[in-house]
Amino acid sequence: MIRTELATLGEFGLIERINQQFTPVLPQTIKGIGDDAAVIDTATDEYLLVSTDMLVEGVHFDLSYVPLKHLGYKAIAVNVSDIAAMNGIPRQVTVSIGLSNRFSVEAIDELYAGIQAACEAYKVDLVGGDTTSSRSGLLISVTAVGVVDKTKISYRNGAKPNDIICITGDLGAAYMGLQLLEREKREFLENPEMQPQLEDKSYLVGRQLKPEARTDIVYELLEAGVVPTSMIDISDGLASEILHLCNQSGTGAQVFEENVPIADDTFLTADEFKISPLTIALNGGEDYELLFTIKQSDYEKIKNSPHISFAGFMTNDPKNVELVTKGGSRFPIKAQGWQHLTNQQS
Ligand code: ADP
Ligand code: MG
Repeated sequence: MIRTELATLGEFGLIERINQQFTPVLPQTIKGIGDDAAVIDTATDEYLLVSTDMLVEGVHFDLSYVPLKHLGYKAIAVNVSDIAAMNGIPRQVTVSIGLSNRFSVEAIDELYAGIQAACEAYKVDLVGGDTTSSRSGLLISVTAVGVVDKTKISYRNGAKPNDIICITGDLGAAYMGLQLLEREKREFLENPEMQPQLEDKSYLVGRQLKPEARTDIVYELLEAGVVPTSMIDISDGLASEILHLCNQSGTGAQVFEENVPIADDTFLTADEFKISPLTIALNGGEDYELLFTIKQSDYEKIKNSPHISFAGFMTNDPKNVELVTKGGSRFPIKAQGWQHLTNQQS
């Protein structure tokens, strides 16, 4: 019997292997595996969107510095983000948890206080879930359901050459926040008397602990009358996500370094850690911003948005997904993925 190591496939290889074995046969299944959410026909003007994400203790979060309330909020936000990435509106969520008697009732109340705060913030209803015991720490799996007008859905594969690449908010801050929290933890373990030094780092730490899904952008685009030609949420860094859009759309891309949005706090702290802020924006994770493309003719409609940066454009050469530096040099964008930067997995 041959044994193949999972590492030879990697996460995307494994998903592709599963995908090949499950070609949808129902006419209502408009999109199965391969986008931010599955798309299901409802015989109305809207499609139903379904997305699932799982958070695992020790892999996605460390309870020594992540408060349970924040964790609950984040579990909902990251799923809502995948609905937003289809240009959709979230409606309902189910939440499944695996836990051990290490957790008290009060601790689980905290987790659900965060879940409730997120349900209020994103206007979604919690409608079910499952509860089980776990021997390997806390597990949280959330499924989000949403809707999108059939004429307004954005897939990953719709970008065309010359479309403008748009990025919401700023990138790299959540990764920088994680580095700060990890540093505090190390220092605390060495010297428990020490007080945390995170006062002036609240933006970065907040981006890590309490990410927000950009449902506001979905409404902003709707009001402006712009439907992105392609869209994805940035959970694994800009590099990996732009490659997804290009691979699925059959385009190349030119991303201009000077137009990649990075906050001043990220610049300053990256300098402290002696890492390149651009590397963090490209390969850090968990920003949950949106990356999308628009037709050139739609630029006027959103060019003044304070929430959107215009970072480059799609090209007709799928072999060249490039970063253009401030000096004009071009480098191929590679999907380093943030597994290589930390021990975390997406
Ligand atoms: P995202 O980062 O947007 O959550 P993922 O990279 O996790 O997306 O997943 C990409 C696609 O693969 C999605 O369509 C997702 O539903 C699908 N997928 C991931 N894991 C599995 C699995 N174990 N079985 C079936 N589909 C999966
Ligand atoms: Mg996604």
